[in-house]
Amino acid sequence: MPEGRIVKALSGFYYVADGDRVFSCRARGLFKKKGAKVNPLVGDWVVYDAINEEEGYVMEVGERTSELVRPPISNVDQAVLVFSMFKPAFSALLLDKFLVHTEHAGIDSIIILSKADQVPEEEVRAITEKYEAIGYTVIPTSTKQETRGLQEVREVLHDRISVFAGQSGVGKSSLINALFPGVSLQTGDVSEKLGRGKHTTRHVELIPLEGGGYVADTPGFSSLEFMDLDELDLAEAFRDFAERSPDCKFRGCLHVTEPSCAVQEGVASGELSKERYENYLQFREELKEYQRRN
Ligand code: GDP
Ligand code: ZN
Repeated sequence: MPEGRIVKALSGFYYVADGDRVFSCRARGLFKKKGAKVNPLVGDWVVYDAINEEEGYVMEVGERTSELVRPPISNVDQAVLVFSMFKPAFSALLLDKFLVHTEHAGIDSIIILSKADQVPEEEVRAITEKYEAIGYTVIPTSTKQETRGLQEVREVLHDRISVFAGQSGVGKSSLINALFPGVSLQTGDVSEKLGRGKHTTRHVELIPLEGGGYVADTPGFSSLEFMDLDELDLAEAFRDFAERSPDCKFRGCLHVTEPSCAVQEGVASGELSKERYENYLQFREELKEYQRRN
């Protein structure tokens, strides 16, 4: 039986793309994995049974490499985190928080520094170097005056499934428009205040990109609460810290008060970012607060 990918789910129908064709499919029965019920998700590779040129049944759901809850999409390869340099001002705290979520979800992050035309180049360079040193891809962009970074963004989107994320007003829509004229993102931006629970789940759709790859039409990570994280997950979501933790004296070191901690030493010597470490400590507080409330 043929295989395809679910690119849209709506009212009990799964739209399965196979090459140039899309079949609207119903799910055949329940899919069980390790005893639990599995609902097909947008992004899933599926085996389907076509009953004609347009319709069929989803017969089997493939293994997932990643699974996001909000928005509900599987097999996302990367989050494109759009942070503007100006209006709204760049926030390292918010970026580090997004990175905790993408690391925990097991997906790559591409950091876009949008509106790079609005600040002195040194500011753009400092942030770029800081996050490249941790191992992230950072792309400064501008869609105004002379455009910048667009070709690089197209290249990182190629053949991958991407979700865009970022606060309202950072320039996500402008960027998508400049990259792919005619493609539009739904609004419903990430806002920490509105994020909590209120977000209505609409349908999610993967938009095919010319030449291969998909972009979700809805911004990712509508909530930035530390829902299912524990203390150690949080520590491990800082990949620069995780890299050093094998050198900490204690296994499972949280890098706070433990003696002979390679992370605390790295921060003291300036090899690790003090700002990121402070953000880590703040997230620990937020995590505790979240756990108290729930
Ligand atoms: P979104 O809410 O993230 O989708 O942001 P928009 O794409 O709607 O952009 C918000 C505002 O930022 C608009 O006024 C845009 O014209 C402006 N903007 C977007 N990209 C750039 C850029 O590269 N440079 C400058 N100077 N302004 C930009
Ligand atoms: Zn440590």
